[in-house]
Amino acid sequence: MTRLRNPSEAGRRYPVPLQPGLTYGPIASKRLGKSLGINLSGTKRKLCDYNCVYCFYGKTFAPPRAEEFPPVDSVLSAVSEALTSDVEADWLTFSGNGESTVHPDFPAIVRGVRGLVDEIRPGLRIALLTNASTVTDAKVTTSFDWIDFPILKLDAGDQTGFKRINRPLIPRIRVEELIERLREISAGKKLTLQSVLFDGDPTNVRGRAYRNWIKAVEYIKPDAVQLYSLDYQVGSISPIDVETLDRIASEVSGSGVQAITYIEERS
Ligand code: SF4
Repeated sequence: MTRLRNPSEAGRRYPVPLQPGLTYGPIASKRLGKSLGINLSGTKRKLCDYNCVYCFYGKTFAPPRAEEFPPVDSVLSAVSEALTSDVEADWLTFSGNGESTVHPDFPAIVRGVRGLVDEIRPGLRIALLTNASTVTDAKVTTSFDWIDFPILKLDAGDQTGFKRINRPLIPRIRVEELIERLREISAGKKLTLQSVLFDGDPTNVRGRAYRNWIKAVEYIKPDAVQLYSLDYQVGSISPIDVETLDRIASEVSGSGVQAITYIEERS
């Protein structure tokens, strides 16, 4: 079990403002060090297919529409500008104001970004923080081959918990299908999951919700799971204490999956 701490993220306010550009940072990321962000969701509102109960950007008011996303050229031009600047970074990370992989041109953007990195800053690594809602789309998962470190979210192990925690705005998304697909991916390549843990109503650290989540992790058999508690209270859910985080990490480690815990976190 590995525990990391990032003091720079302590005391975060909720909700946080949206990122003001198509690139941002670099930010001090506890997972990735100095990370330059790529925001495929534009700057007007959060564009995500989930409405997670803990989302630090607040509520997702409606599912994204294709015309709301920034065009490929604008994204690539912003990335090119950031890469040619004197900004220092260890990673270039797809994250930003929502879920990157729901951008309709995500595969083309990933290929374009890979080309720019190889040309302008070879050696800079590319990461993706994704909610994993699109892992059933082969066009999206094929794009992962161009990314050095995809990190995929799993907060619930059954549809009831998924609907209460991640609150998908697209009703056809079923967590059981995502879990199956994650298992297939894990069988063929390195896979890292990330899970936000919290207590209250809903919770994923007690009872059936917890048992089904840990069963799903064991079934998927990823290489590692990044585990972290919220660092703020929102509605009826609260951060968990270090003892609970350690207990869960021990159980994950006991199943043969590396558990990496963080004291404070954002999604
Ligand atoms: S997946 Fe991420 S951006 Fe989307 S609602 Fe959940 S926490 Fe917010």
